[in-house]
Amino acid sequence: MDLQLEHDVALDALNTFGVAARAPRLVRVHDAREVRRLVDDAQLGACPKLILGGGSNLLLTRDPDALVVKVEIGGLRVLRDDADGCIVEAGAGVRWHELVEWTLRQGLPGLENLALIPGTVGAAPVQNIGAYGVELADRFESLDAVDLTTGREVTLDVATCRFGYRDSQFKHALAGRSLITRVRLRLPRPWAPQIAYADLARRFAGGATPSAQQVFDAVCEIRRAKLPDPAVLGNAGSFFKNPVVNRTIRNEILEEYPEIVSYPLADGSYKLAAAWMIDACGFKGRALGRAAVDARHALVLVNLGGASGAEIIALAQAVRAAVRGKFGVELEFEPVVV
Ligand SMILES: Cc1cc2nc3c(=O)[nH]c(=O)nc-3n(C[C@H](O)[C@H](O)[C@H](O)COP(=O)(O)OP(=O)(O)OC[C@H]3O[C@@H](n4cnc5c(N)ncnc54)[C@H](O)[C@@H]3O)c2cc1C
Repeated sequence: MDLQLEHDVALDALNTFGVAARAPRLVRVHDAREVRRLVDDAQLGACPKLILGGGSNLLLTRDPDALVVKVEIGGLRVLRDDADGCIVEAGAGVRWHELVEWTLRQGLPGLENLALIPGTVGAAPVQNIGAYGVELADRFESLDAVDLTTGREVTLDVATCRFGYRDSQFKHALAGRSLITRVRLRLPRPWAPQIAYADLARRFAGGATPSAQQVFDAVCEIRRAKLPDPAVLGNAGSFFKNPVVNRTIRNEILEEYPEIVSYPLADGSYKLAAAWMIDACGFKGRALGRAAVDARHALVLVNLGGASGAEIIALAQAVRAAVRGKFGVELEFEPVVV
């Protein structure tokens, strides 16, 4: 099949903020061969590209100049299933939640804590998605990608991906350069429920050991109660990362604000709860134009209807300045801003 170039494409429905923007040119890729053909194309090969999955971790502040490459690579299969574990492989364009549901239907637990995260499988390694005590890196086996400058297909392991907290090489050296085509995950054997995270621990306290399906159901229920549904109120999930600071800084802040919420990390540093700091700055529920900080979850910025990307970024910057002013801590944005 020839590459079909689309012109002047509305991106409003292709980003979960629901921000209006138009792509001068967009191409959909359905397998690695099409990605290689795109790289080899005399006209399109050399032009800058914006890789687009489900648009759920993206804020468009303008019409992108780059060629938008919409990843629609499908396929789900079990590669191996033995005493050591089970390896499943998914195409980059598969919806992440569809993969989670599919594994459970196959009787393959291990992804249930990551239920209901919007977006595609191919974007999951980019920010090392995580929720309820599990992150992608905990289940990662390897991925296939096409280098958008050379067209070469590569298989990358966990060391090359350099996963961190909502971070990976795909946000640094490989940003915009590697198009992920397939992801392989290793599901643990024997399986045990991961329910140490506070919300889940409370839910299952004192009861029998929950099944993977019960953990999945609980995660879905908690998420639906906590997070605004992008189909109703445009958003990209958490807009800010929880800042990580050293012990000295954490203790200085603690002295002035004894009620601040923080979590010790293995390396001796501390993760501060950005939501608590934003709330303490009086921003929870506050609107600026048609953008607002969600009233239920202070990490989430929402489009109240018709907000532009510029309005949302103005609100994000106001939040960042307030937190910097009060706590001396710099908040980092989680979504990719274009
Ligand atoms: C309501 C809501 C809740 C959320 N909850 C969570 C959560 O609990 N945990 C969490 O970690 N995230 C969460 N997110 C953020 C988001 O869902 C994830 O980051 C998701 O992985 C983004 O997938 P996407 O396909 O929409 O990526 P996009 O938004 O389309 O792209 C994000 C970035 O990845 C790049 N990219 C996309 N596909 C590929 C590919 N195939 N190859 C290379 N680069 C690619 C893009 O260029 C862009 O830089 C939430 C978002 C929403 C709206």
